[in-house]
Amino acid sequence: MSISNELVNRYPWLPSLKKIYEDIGEKPPAEFISELFINSDSIQIAERVLKIFEAAFNNLEEIPDNKIDDLNIHVYLLLKIILYALNNKMITNRTANLYSKNAYNDMERESNESNLYNICQDLGLKINFYDPPEPYGLKVVKDHREKLKANFSIHYIDYLRLASNLRDEYRKLTNNTLINGYVFIQNKTLIRLIQEYVRNKLLIEETGDKASLKAFIKEVSKIQGFKELYDKISSLWDKRKEEFDFSFKIDIKSKEDMLSLYPPCVIEILKKAEEGQNLVHHERLFIVWFLLALEYPVEKVVDIFSTLPDFDKEKTTYQVEYAKRKNYTPYQCSTLKSLGLCMADKYKDELCKEGYGSKDPTERKKLKHPLAYIRIKKYRSEKEEEYKKNLAKRALEESKNQND
Ligand code: SF4
Repeated sequence: MSISNELVNRYPWLPSLKKIYEDIGEKPPAEFISELFINSDSIQIAERVLKIFEAAFNNLEEIPDNKIDDLNIHVYLLLKIILYALNNKMITNRTANLYSKNAYNDMERESNESNLYNICQDLGLKINFYDPPEPYGLKVVKDHREKLKANFSIHYIDYLRLASNLRDEYRKLTNNTLINGYVFIQNKTLIRLIQEYVRNKLLIEETGDKASLKAFIKEVSKIQGFKELYDKISSLWDKRKEEFDFSFKIDIKSKEDMLSLYPPCVIEILKKAEEGQNLVHHERLFIVWFLLALEYPVEKVVDIFSTLPDFDKEKTTYQVEYAKRKNYTPYQCSTLKSLGLCMADKYKDELCKEGYGSKDPTERKKLKHPLAYIRIKKYRSEKEEEYKKNLAKRALEESKNQND
């Protein structure tokens, strides 16, 4: 199947890039960069790439002034090379999330379904297109009955492959209509699956081969335009990184470093969010309820989600505000265990695994709730502080007595 150049310009992550733009798609990265930066378009391309990184570091939901033209391909390839050179998982995740979210918005704005169909074909997906939309079921909510119709159905193997990182309950095959091996799918859901494909295209694994990476950066840094861009992005990140660390660590009210007091199940979710990894439904609910129980302000809780691939500020703010009004209690340990969210073993956490002492010295109590974890840790650290103070006081008194 042949696909138009215009569609590849708009979506340069399509496999046809290599066929249509064989001359640039197959070039070694260093050669691509040296040719790019002698080109008169290079300033514009570098500016666009910088804008993507700026937007990703600022947790924007869309790339500002994003243009869809034939420079897009160079922007995409340069972006991938810089991600490789930066070799930083947090930057890669944030950038991949933003870029894929942008692709989602562009696909959603497509005026007809035929482009979406062509994209699926180019990705080699087994897909059926229905015009008019095909009825496939009935949705009944209380007294309301709604006939379900879809323009697309996708083969279940492709569906599972694309949805493998999206572990939400409602995406499971058993919760979708499957007819003759095909899953009926709404346009938005299909686009969300393609977004995941785009995200994965940019998720370059951090390389352990530091020597090759160093040699590569040394070689491409000889090209002035590239070096300037790379240095600008690195220094932008250094500044933003400090702010991220700060906002994750500090309790808003007490200005206390809370990270050391959080249980492993919470640390794990915060880490995933910080790295821009997707969070499943229960992880989202738990972290919202947990942080609200600690009286974190709504906007700080919303901020935690800003790095996720499907972040929508308005929707998230509404949901967090709603949860605050309802005053939900965060899941207890037994629920978190049954949901596979307990991280006691992974973090080899003594308090979570062994429990804590009670008034009866022969008895150990089991930890039942993540909020109790904070209370106990706080109590222990206060006792430790007190003990240290007493020790210092005693040492001072003893030295005084010896001098008298
Ligand atoms: S034992 Fe409880 S607090 Fe500790 S990691 Fe598991 S769920 Fe979280």
